[in-house]
Amino acid sequence: MVIGVLAVQGAFAEHEEILSLLGVEYIELRNGIDARKAFDGLILPGGESTTQGKLLRELDMFEPLREKISKDLPVLSTCAGLILLAEEISNDSARYFATLPVTVRRNAYGRQLGSFYTEEQFGNLGKVPMTFIRAPYIDSVGEGVEILAEVDQHIVGVRYRNQIGLSFHPELNENRKIHQMFLDSISPT
Ligand code: GLN
Repeated sequence: MVIGVLAVQGAFAEHEEILSLLGVEYIELRNGIDARKAFDGLILPGGESTTQGKLLRELDMFEPLREKISKDLPVLSTCAGLILLAEEISNDSARYFATLPVTVRRNAYGRQLGSFYTEEQFGNLGKVPMTFIRAPYIDSVGEGVEILAEVDQHIVGVRYRNQIGLSFHPELNENRKIHQMFLDSISPT
């Protein structure tokens, strides 16, 4: 199994570290050639969605990745990555891959609560650590979207077919259960 990690901006190195610790091979995706390579799963890291979206287009990565995602490539997205996947962004006119039927709100926690840490139930994994950094949350979900986690009545984790979307950063804590769950869901080609 090989995981492609989008590595144009943001917290990709932390995801790579977890993959290494779990003994999983990965490649960094930095340009259009990388984006067209074969890999069994994709990680979209946190960072700045506007910058990432711009770079994806400039580096000729947008179309090949969008096509892979819409053809059911398993994706784990965190924070800005979730924004890239969302069909709707309630407070921004930009749209990116738009393959995940949810409406997200960027920087939803405002300035005061820009960053915080909590532990909450995640699917059937029990409580997991959750680090939020100027995070989005999910305002509403479309049909077929499974809600995996909520914090203070806001949706912060979902799964839809091949796509997992998280508001928070699971790669910034020791707990590797979410990455393991993602990897377990992949059947290598
Ligand atoms: N605030 C960022 C955005 O809107 C996301 C923050 C993050 O990925 N930690 O793109």
